[in-house]
Amino acid sequence: MYPYMNRILLPICLLFGFLLSAQQLKSPSEFFGYELGTEFARHHEVADYYEYLAKEVPDRVKLTVYGQTNERRPLLLAFVSSAANMAKLEDIRTEHLKDIDGTGTNDKAIVWLSYNVHGNESVSTEASMKTIHALLTEKSNYLDDAIIIMDPCINPDGRDRYSNWYNQYKNNPYQVDPNSKEHHEGWWTGRSNHYMFDLNRDWAWLTQIESQQRIKIYNEWLPHVHVDFHEQGVDNPYYFAPAAEPYHEVITDFQRDFQTTLGKNHAKYFDANGWFYFTKEIFDLFYPSYGDTYPTYNGAIGMTYEQGGSGRAGLGIVTKIGDTLTLKDRIAHHHTTGLSTVEVSSKNAERLNAEFQKFYKNKSFKYKSYILNGDKDKLQALTSLLDKHEIMYGTGSKGSVKGFKYNTGGNGSLATNNNSLVVSTNQPKGTLVKVLFEPKAKLSDSLTYDITAWSLPYAYGLDAVASTTLVSSINKKESVAIGSYQGKIDLGKYAHISNWNSMKDARFLAELLQNGIRVRKAHHPFSIDGNSFERGSLIITKGDNQNNDDFGNLLSSIAAKHNKNLTGSTTGFVDSGKDFGSPYVEMVNKPKIAILAGGPTSTLRFGEIWHFFEQQLHYPLTVIDAEYFDKVDLNQYHILILPGRGYGNHFQEEKLNRLKDWVKKGGKIIAMGGSIDALDGEKGFNIKKKETPKDSVKSPEPHKNVQREQIKKAITGAVFKTKVDNTHPLAYGYGSEYFTLKLGSSGYQYLKNGNAVYIEGAPKPVSGFAGSEAQKKVANSLIFGVEQVGQGQVIYMVDNPLFRGFWENGKLFMANALFMVD
Ligand SMILES: [Zn+2]
Repeated sequence: MYPYMNRILLPICLLFGFLLSAQQLKSPSEFFGYELGTEFARHHEVADYYEYLAKEVPDRVKLTVYGQTNERRPLLLAFVSSAANMAKLEDIRTEHLKDIDGTGTNDKAIVWLSYNVHGNESVSTEASMKTIHALLTEKSNYLDDAIIIMDPCINPDGRDRYSNWYNQYKNNPYQVDPNSKEHHEGWWTGRSNHYMFDLNRDWAWLTQIESQQRIKIYNEWLPHVHVDFHEQGVDNPYYFAPAAEPYHEVITDFQRDFQTTLGKNHAKYFDANGWFYFTKEIFDLFYPSYGDTYPTYNGAIGMTYEQGGSGRAGLGIVTKIGDTLTLKDRIAHHHTTGLSTVEVSSKNAERLNAEFQKFYKNKSFKYKSYILNGDKDKLQALTSLLDKHEIMYGTGSKGSVKGFKYNTGGNGSLATNNNSLVVSTNQPKGTLVKVLFEPKAKLSDSLTYDITAWSLPYAYGLDAVASTTLVSSINKKESVAIGSYQGKIDLGKYAHISNWNSMKDARFLAELLQNGIRVRKAHHPFSIDGNSFERGSLIITKGDNQNNDDFGNLLSSIAAKHNKNLTGSTTGFVDSGKDFGSPYVEMVNKPKIAILAGGPTSTLRFGEIWHFFEQQLHYPLTVIDAEYFDKVDLNQYHILILPGRGYGNHFQEEKLNRLKDWVKKGGKIIAMGGSIDALDGEKGFNIKKKETPKDSVKSPEPHKNVQREQIKKAITGAVFKTKVDNTHPLAYGYGSEYFTLKLGSSGYQYLKNGNAVYIEGAPKPVSGFAGSEAQKKVANSLIFGVEQVGQGQVIYMVDNPLFRGFWENGKLFMANALFMVD
C-alpha cells in the first residue's frame, strides 16, 4: 500500500547525509533574500533558482531548456525524483512508453506539473518553487515511486509582462483596496503570450512556438497525470478535480474516478486548514485544446486547478466578502494541491501504470478510418499538424470508401486514389484521432464555455468520409502527395502561372510582392497550352518585370523556397478566357496595411491577425493604437484592418466620417466580427444587423432555469455549411461550399451586392451546439461580403477565419481580402 515504507530501513548514515543536504538546500525565500510571496519573481530569477537546485542536487534534479519564447526567454523543465530513479531516468521513460503496446515494466508514476500558462495568473510559478523545494526536502519520500516533471512557467513572456507591470504600479506597501491601479491591468494583460494567443487553447492546434516546442518533449514522456495550474477571479476560492460536465465520451471510467481520488485528498488538506473550494463546476472536459483535455486524450489524468486571484490580485486584495487574499495564501493553496497530487500519484503508481496500458489498448470506436481528399497544400498542412502530434497516417489506393460524408452530412462514398490521406484509430494516438476527426463530438451537456465543434476535415476544407470499417493504407509518410519543387524556371518563357488555392500560394505571392516582382491576377478562368486555371491564378510575366535585373534569380529562388511549381507559357494568347494583356488580368497591388489596436479591440482578435501576418503570411503590418489613431494620416495606407471588439461599440460620428471619406477615395477596410458594429448605425455604412426574433408571449421561467434558457440564444462555436460565390474575388480559390466556424449568434442581412459567402435558409449546425433562437438569427445571413463605397471597399468578415489560428481553410479569405479584392 505504501511502497516507500521500506525506505525507512535505509542505513542511518545515508539518512544522515540526506538530512544534511536538505538543510543546506536553500528555500526560495532564502535564495531570493525576501519571503516568498512578498514580491513577484521575474522569469530570469525563477530560472536562477531552478539552476541553483540542479547544481546543488544534480542527482535528484535535472533541468532542461526545451525551447525559447518569441521574446527569447528560456522554456524550462525540471525532472525531479529520487537519486535512484534519476540514475535510470531514460530507462524509466522507455519502459513507460512500452506500455503503449502493453509490454512496459515501469512501476513509477509520471507526474507533469505545468505552471502559469496564463501569465498574469502569477501565483503558479511562485508555488512551483515552493513545491520543488518541498519535494527535495520534507516530502522527498513521495519521490521514490514518482518522476515529477515540472514546467515552472509555460508562458514566460506573459508572466514577465504581468510582473513587470505590477512592479511599476504597485503601492509600497501594497494596497489591498481593489480600486487601486495595481489591481487594474491595462489593455494588454499578461494572460496571453507574445502574439496575444491564449496558450491554454493551443494544445491541439499548436500554432504557437511555446506549444510546438513543448509537445515534442510531452510526447517523449506522456505522463500519467498532468496538472495545469491557473487562477480564477478573486472572489472564487479554489477549484480542483473532479471536473464539470460535459466530459468527452472518450474519457474512461478510471480517468473519471481518479480525478475524484485526487480531489478527495486535496479536500482533506483544505478541510484541515478551513480553506474553501469547489469541484464539478464550470471547468469541463470537452474542447481538446486545453492543458487538461489534451493530456486526458493522451491517456493522462488531465486536470485544471484554479486558485482565486489572477491579474487583479497583486500581492494582496480585499475580496467581496471582506477577506484579504494575499499572494502568500495563493501560494499555500497551489503548493498544497501540487504536493497532494504527487502524494496520491506516488501511492497509486502501480495502478496508474496498469490503467495507462489499458488506455492504449485498441478501442472500438464507431469510425475506424477517416479518408480525406483535396488540394495537396491543404493535405500537407494537415499532415504537418498530425506529425506534431505523432499521429500516423497513410495513403489510400484506387477505389471508393463508403461512410459518413462530411460535406453532405449523410452517408455516401468517396472515390479514393494514392493521393488520398487515410487516418485510422487503430494506432497509439487513436483516441486523439477520434476526438480531432469525428464529425460531431457528443455533448453530454450543452452548458460549456468553449467551442463545441472543431472537426479537422471541416477546418482544413477537405472532402472526407468517416468509415466504420478499417481502411487499409500504405503507411509511408513520404508517399503522401506533397508535391515537390520540379526544378528551375525557364526564364525564356513569356509568363509563369501559379494556381491560387491555399495559404502556400498566398505566402508565395506575399514574398514575390515584397521582392518587387510584379504579379497579375486572373479575374476569369482561362486555359492555355492545354492547362486550365481558375479565377485568382497568378501570372508573372517577363514583360512586367523587364526593368528588374534580378527577376530571373528572384523568381527561381522564391519558387524553390515555397515548393511552387509554375506553369510556363510562351504566349499571352489564351485558348479560352482572357489574354494576359486584358483588363481582366489585373496587376496585384502591393498593399501597405495598417491595423487598429488598443481598447476596446479584443487582444485575442488583434493577436490572431498580428500572428497571421508575421508568422503565417510573412507580410508587414503597421500597428496603430487607438490612443493616437485619430492623428494618423490614413492616406499612407491601402488597407485598414479593424479586428473584432465588443459588439455594439459604435465609432464616434467624426471617426466614421473620416473613415468613410478615406474609403471613398479608394481605401479598403476589413471589418471583422464585433468591429462591424462600429461601422453600423445611422451615419455608418450599409451593413444591417438582423433583429432578434420577436418572442411570442411565454409563461415566466423559474429562476433555476435561467442559465438553461440563456443558452437558447447562444452559439459558443459551431460549424455551419455556407454557400460560396467563387466568382467573387473575396472567394477565389474556393469551391461552392464553405464550412464556417460560427462563434456567436450575431447575424447580418445580405448586402445589396457582394455576398461572397452566406448562409441560405435556416440550417442547423453540421457540428456542435447552436441554441434554437440563435439558429433563427443566423438564418439567411451574411458571412463574408464586400460593399463598394466610392472608389474603395469595406470587406465584412462576420465570422473569424483566423480564430485561434487553426481554421486553416478560412485563411485564404483573408489573403483574398488583401490581394484579390479591389
Ligand atoms: Zn488560466
